[in-house]
Amino acid sequence: MKNSNPAELAELLRRTQAAAALTGAGISVESGIPSFRGAHGLWTRYNPMEYAHIDAFLSNPAKVWRMLLELDATIRQARPNPAHYALAELEKMGKLKGIITQNVDNLHQEAGSRNVIEFHGNARRFVCLRCRRTIDPATLDFSHVPLYCSCGGLIKPDIVFFGEEIPPAANRAAFDLAESCDLMLVIGTSAAVMPANILPKAAKNHGAIIVEINLEPTELTRRFTDYFLEGSAGQILTEAVALLAS
Ligand code: NAD
Repeated sequence: MKNSNPAELAELLRRTQAAAALTGAGISVESGIPSFRGAHGLWTRYNPMEYAHIDAFLSNPAKVWRMLLELDATIRQARPNPAHYALAELEKMGKLKGIITQNVDNLHQEAGSRNVIEFHGNARRFVCLRCRRTIDPATLDFSHVPLYCSCGGLIKPDIVFFGEEIPPAANRAAFDLAESCDLMLVIGTSAAVMPANILPKAAKNHGAIIVEINLEPTELTRRFTDYFLEGSAGQILTEAVALLAS
């Protein structure tokens, strides 16, 4: 692992033909969404096994919706930050083939990124657990939870709870991208959540350079990362993309 900087990242990006990005909660912290584990994070107040496991949702949806309403309010007021826009710009420049995100906040899409693989779903979408219909949130009355579909089924945000599998199409697309990229940007993820944390290893095994951007070293840094940029994703990516464009 080599400690790196935005100028070196710009040079690496100049040489890449097909980069990919894996993003986590850290990239959205500058948009006002705290990471779940960090200070003010949801898991400091809600035990994830009691509030974010599918069995908890099925057995006591009213209780779990208390946490979900808080998450919904936080995500709804958030807007993309410079890191999201920099990745969208890299895609437009033909450098970035796609983003695999563990986030459920829709901010990459709002920033203009087109190929976004939602590894853990999307909290702005809702689904009926009985008829599997996707439901437009504009038609839902969040003052009365839990929410039920016209078929009588329980409605759930379309996010992956603990105990649920990664949507198979997203899982396939993520591994295809990881195994075909020549450089993977790993941004704002502690790389502690399985199976998303296998993706950088898969990319590296297929010859990709691993570039990590984080406020602090992670599980990946010593073992898999080739270039480590310590600092905020917004500042580092903005600087690197500006240098690349100049
Ligand atoms: P994590 O909370 O485990 O780790 C966040 C990482 O981001 C940390 O390593 C931290 O040092 C780093 N970080 C914080 N601020 C940063 C910044 N400004 N720039 C660069 N790095 C920064 O997050 P995770 O690895 O994504 O795993 C958490 C799980 O919770 C994921 O599955 C994710 O889906 C979910 N989650 C999603 C959101 C969201 O949609 N915005 C928010 C919280 C959690």
